Amino acid sequence: MDNKKRFYITTPIYYVNDIPHIGHAYTTIACDVMSRYKRMKGFDAYFLTGTDEHGQKIQTAAEAKGLTPQELVDKIHLNFKELWKVLNISNDDFIRTTEDRHVRVVQSMFKKLMDQGDIYKGSYEGWYCVPCETYVPESSMGENRTCPDCGRPLTTMKEESYFFKASKYVPRLIEHYEKNLQGVMPRIRYNEIMSFLHGEVRDQSVSRTTLKWGIPIPGDEKHVVYVWFDALINYATAVGYLDDPEMFERYWPVVRHMVGKDIIRFHCVIWPLMLLALGVNVPVSVVAHGWWTVDGEKMSKSKGNVVDPFKMAELYGADAFRYFLLREVPFGNDGDFSEAALVGRINSDLANDLGNLLNRTLQMIVSYSGGVVPAGALDDPLDVEVRALGEATVGAVDKSMETFSYDEALKLIWAFIGRANKYIDETSPWKLQKEGKNARLDGVLCTLYEVLRLSALLVAPYIPEGAEKIWKQLGRQGSVHTEKIDSFRWGEGAGTKVDKAEVLFPRIDLEQWKKDRTPQPDAAKASGAEAAEHEPEIDIDGFRSVELRVAQIVKVEEIPRSKKLYKLEVDLGYERRTICAGIKPFFKPEELEGRRAVVVANLKPAKLCGIESNGMILAASVKGGEDEQVVLIAPAADIPLGSRVR
Ligand SMILES: [Zn+2]
Repeated sequence: MDNKKRFYITTPIYYVNDIPHIGHAYTTIACDVMSRYKRMKGFDAYFLTGTDEHGQKIQTAAEAKGLTPQELVDKIHLNFKELWKVLNISNDDFIRTTEDRHVRVVQSMFKKLMDQGDIYKGSYEGWYCVPCETYVPESSMGENRTCPDCGRPLTTMKEESYFFKASKYVPRLIEHYEKNLQGVMPRIRYNEIMSFLHGEVRDQSVSRTTLKWGIPIPGDEKHVVYVWFDALINYATAVGYLDDPEMFERYWPVVRHMVGKDIIRFHCVIWPLMLLALGVNVPVSVVAHGWWTVDGEKMSKSKGNVVDPFKMAELYGADAFRYFLLREVPFGNDGDFSEAALVGRINSDLANDLGNLLNRTLQMIVSYSGGVVPAGALDDPLDVEVRALGEATVGAVDKSMETFSYDEALKLIWAFIGRANKYIDETSPWKLQKEGKNARLDGVLCTLYEVLRLSALLVAPYIPEGAEKIWKQLGRQGSVHTEKIDSFRWGEGAGTKVDKAEVLFPRIDLEQWKKDRTPQPDAAKASGAEAAEHEPEIDIDGFRSVELRVAQIVKVEEIPRSKKLYKLEVDLGYERRTICAGIKPFFKPEELEGRRAVVVANLKPAKLCGIESNGMILAASVKGGEDEQVVLIAPAADIPLGSRVR
């Protein structure tokens, strides 16, 4: 088999300390679809994913949990393995950078580069971000010397370090990319990388003495290999760089790396420079995809809008989630995730277009033809047109997949499915049956069956479970996933006994779906909260007129005549004032002193028990029978006193 029929695709290895989110799912699904597709096109395809398990963050997290770093990673890497199972990911291997097979390759590559003079010892001083484990050049620092990636303050650091002579190989890499425009995809990233290479590429620090949790450098064990240098090598380890030269020869020349656009410099500059120094081919392509926002906003833990792929698969099925991610945005662009849009796609594309075509066709084959696909003449102009579109779709899909244009491929497949739905209306098989035009009816049923048989093959990489069900309902033998798309011959399905039609993707009732997503008043009542009674609506200006500010309670005095009230002295930063608050039954004075709270600062002064109160303290309360529970509302993080709350 020549290289043109071989294919090796990788996801980045995921940092094991992260909780798997939509970004991880997206990259991995994209690789999965591509490798499933290539296998069905007769390729010898190999698909790798895995976890990056070294570095400072792991060491710190392990210490906090009282585990060794190895114990921690042995446990948490399973989150990723579990997710890939749930999402039907068909990876051939899962590599972990703490595995012995990898450690040996890293040490051997490091030693080879050291022996040939491409790694040398020096000392490194610079601005350093501890959590990101990166030195940050002056040119890319954020405001007030902060890390451009995480925003945290940088510290100066000087340490002995090994350096890789990256600069030495830059001209050769430029030359390579000039000849290989597909080396970085899409074009916008290619241009970005070329302009970076034409600037100053410095030698890279590739070791650390500041952390312990890494791969020791052979012969100088106070150093460990820098995490990025270690991580990139995984791609070579997994296909036998050291242990299986035959396998390496088979897959290495045809490698594609799929990455998020934030890590392309490592993959399109550092990694190929390392490979050039090692005398190994650089990857055929590095394919960079965009990022996801959620309902128009950047995803972040603090906003609480991180999309949990486990939950999406549980709620809507892995197929629908996979389909949505690849259909919704052109690959390479940023995309916006919303559950409402996902539900829309399930209803229109999966349930309506594809599901209905299958259902209607099978029911007609059962009612009009005894459940056996009739052999038709297939020479009516409409039959010929549908067939031609099917055959053209196969070729067009392949072109789109060549450039990783998943959304284009799906649009083409769905245009074909849509054409077939229209064909049912145009030919009206129920009329043909009534009128006794049996030969024509046979042609129509056979054409529709062939559309579905071909569609099952084309959608299989995207919706593996659904495609398998279609395949069974069509009465096909074996698994759709071992079929070859190019062996499909139009008309060969005649004579097949079909299975009974079952609903593939149930429509989601939008009213019910919206209801399910609204918090239930009953549930709130059960917990004692006063959720059911609402105040009349106010507009934004009405709300803005309430001046809420952060304050600190500095002094708490009892008011002898009152069972409920405390006299509080609060500090607003710009002034101190007295507020009377009815929270005596719920707090001891020492529980309040020093606490932060939110106050209404522009409330009209009022006399309570003879004391002038200037404002109000916000608290949440819940009534459970006799007991009432009250908690103060306070800012979640330190913020200067007097800050406005909006
Ligand atoms: Zn940082």
